[in-house]
Amino acid sequence: MSGEGTGNVAPLRPKRPCPECGRPSSRDTYPFCSTRCKHVDLNRWLSGSYAIPVRDDEEEGDESEPK
Ligand SMILES: [Zn+2]
Repeated sequence: MSGEGTGNVAPLRPKRPCPECGRPSSRDTYPFCSTRCKHVDLNRWLSGSYAIPVRDDEEEGDESEPK
């Protein structure tokens, strides 16, 4: 006996809103709604907002221990 069958199919491509403005994304500029938002995101990357924080705590050098 199988209760599961057709009828519960997940959509192939769930629509995602534009990460910049929240509007429905366009196919050409996915996942953004337009090239404009795409550029906004790109600029954010370039300006360094997404940059990985640099940790400069103690540098791991060769601390020669006197023996
Ligand atoms: Zn947008």
